[in-house]
Amino acid sequence: ARVDNPYEGAQVYVNEDWSAQAAESGGEAIADQPTAVWLDRIAAIDSGSAGENTMGLADHLDAALEQGADVLQMVTYNLPGRDCAALASNGELGPEEIDKYKSEFIDPINEIVSDPKYADLRIVNVVEIDSLPNLITNVGDRETATPECDVMKANGNYVEGVGYALATLGANENVYNYIDIGHHGWIGWEDNFSATAELLHEASNTAGATVDDVAGFAANTANYGATVEPHFSIDDTVNGTPIRNESSWVDWNNYVDELSFAQAFREEAVSAGFNSDVGVIIDTSRNGWGGPDRPTGPGSTSGTADEYVDSSRIDRRIHLGNWCNQDGAGLGERPTASPESGIDAYAWIKPPGESDGSSEEIENDEGKGFDRMCDPTYEGNPRNQNNMSGAKDGAPVSGHWFQAQFEELIANAHPPV
Ligand code: BGC
Repeated sequence: ARVDNPYEGAQVYVNEDWSAQAAESGGEAIADQPTAVWLDRIAAIDSGSAGENTMGLADHLDAALEQGADVLQMVTYNLPGRDCAALASNGELGPEEIDKYKSEFIDPINEIVSDPKYADLRIVNVVEIDSLPNLITNVGDRETATPECDVMKANGNYVEGVGYALATLGANENVYNYIDIGHHGWIGWEDNFSATAELLHEASNTAGATVDDVAGFAANTANYGATVEPHFSIDDTVNGTPIRNESSWVDWNNYVDELSFAQAFREEAVSAGFNSDVGVIIDTSRNGWGGPDRPTGPGSTSGTADEYVDSSRIDRRIHLGNWCNQDGAGLGERPTASPESGIDAYAWIKPPGESDGSSEEIENDEGKGFDRMCDPTYEGNPRNQNNMSGAKDGAPVSGHWFQAQFEELIANAHPPV
């Protein structure tokens, strides 16, 4: 039978591909931290995810046994029409290729994972980053809609694919599925929050899946939202007015950080029909925001709400909607089990040092496009309310090693390395 929290008391697999890369890139001090294995294309199953990675899934599972690990974390990320609101991680499968997703991606993964020799290893499966949240916010008559997300909503292939992944992999007693829920700066607004819980519930009852196939949710994957904003909170007021209404950073969101968002989403999901013991994983790989620009205490409340929030927040992004290779970011909390109520783990799901997307167009055979949100000179779009992208320059295609970012993540780590 499954345990409530797979991370509890567990040694988590140190991804040997990433660890070697980190160690030879100046990251000896963190190279022994567990990071996830990304299955980001069919070829990754046998020969490693994009970039310099070479180990296939069976290689990783065997290495995990050798390490004496109790948990291996993987990400299944290859839906048809992947990344419909951005270009940097467009995938190899066209919008209609759901059958290929099932038979050439999920089924072969399942064949490996279900080998009895791995039965005692708990496999945490983070399911399809950004997909279902995109179907809430980037469709229909919203200003943020894209034609590609409208297609994926209309053809149902995100919901079908997520359901199939949950059902197929969840048939293994040792697999713990966590469905991606975006992050507070996306799903934290009222219009998006319950609708996301409901859509996840629908997907969890599709293609043979049930809520028993769902161990929980994954927040902030590959994003930069602070786990906790230590110097201000959503209930603060400036001159008698709630910052929630008045500050353009918060902009009517109900949350200012990932922990409060994740805990509230968990409750919402249980009301929507998920089991009461679901937990959340928060990706803390790049949300530490240490370094010289980190505020050391709350700002003054004698000016405007914007002045107060901007001088208090540790998240130094230009806008919450910025997601690509954020300049000034630092490693966050080291991976930890059960750090807070309702939270199964702080985990490093995005391997620090792997790019979010190229800062200029680079030809590649991974189906990846050039998203100008990764270009430091870009002035934005409705999804970041037309702000500068905040991206670092000189970045390679997503998933490939970005040395300058890796060095900055270490330098700005919080807690420090
Ligand atoms: C990329 C994947 C990569 C993953 C982890 C994603 O943005 O599209 O190819 O494996 O990040 O770095």
